Amino acid sequence: MCIAENAAKIREQMAEAAIAAGRRPEDICLCAATKMNDSERIRQAIAAGVDCCGENRVQELTTKLAENAYNGAQLHFIGHLQTNKVKQVVGKVDLIQSVDSERLLRAINKEAQLQGICQNILLEINIGQELSKSGFAKDDIYQILEQMDLYPSIRVRGLMAIPPVCENSTKNRKFFQEMYNLSVDIAAKKYDNVCVDILSMGMSDDYTEAIACGSTMIRVGTAIFGKRNYP
Ligand SMILES: *Cc1c(COP(=O)(O)O)cnc(C)c1O
Repeated sequence: MCIAENAAKIREQMAEAAIAAGRRPEDICLCAATKMNDSERIRQAIAAGVDCCGENRVQELTTKLAENAYNGAQLHFIGHLQTNKVKQVVGKVDLIQSVDSERLLRAINKEAQLQGICQNILLEINIGQELSKSGFAKDDIYQILEQMDLYPSIRVRGLMAIPPVCENSTKNRKFFQEMYNLSVDIAAKKYDNVCVDILSMGMSDDYTEAIACGSTMIRVGTAIFGKRNYP
């Protein structure tokens, strides 16, 4: 199947999952995870109506930006971001989804301040408490949010998570549910520079589950572009 057909199929299943959960399909964004796909394939995905593109690597982002690959869609950064590379990302993307440390918050704030802009971000939560993954611990997130006045050039727009790969959908849902509860809880409190309206979770294999649990943004790679060829 081609990219346009894949994207249309995903939209259908997104809508089905939303309606089944009593939600509106238009309240859920489709973010194309574009890693390892070239500018031409990204343009096809945008023409097929994805809401945004998410890149994982600074080098790929920079190369494809220079080729105007993302015209017509929002651009997000969704991978682990090293502090020494924030210059190449801050101000270039609409949303940095994967902010996973206070050190990175400081670096992003500093760069955004230099540029005279306000950078939208999501805080990444390591919801499965996996050593192999980055992200804030669930219990640490309140303390971080209370200190957001330290970062006047950053606006927190919500949370992002990559839950553990689960052998069944019941376990999967437990992590998605936990994320939803956390985001509802945070939204109910008032923090400086924080406006919780995005909950980014769900990928090719589990996005309908994520939507059932309240996701407002799914990040889909394989189901749009096909299997990635890792060199
Ligand atoms: C690659 C990637 C995805 C998409 O993964 P698929 O399983 O290919 O849909 C989503 N989120 C992040 C952070 C990724 O790196």
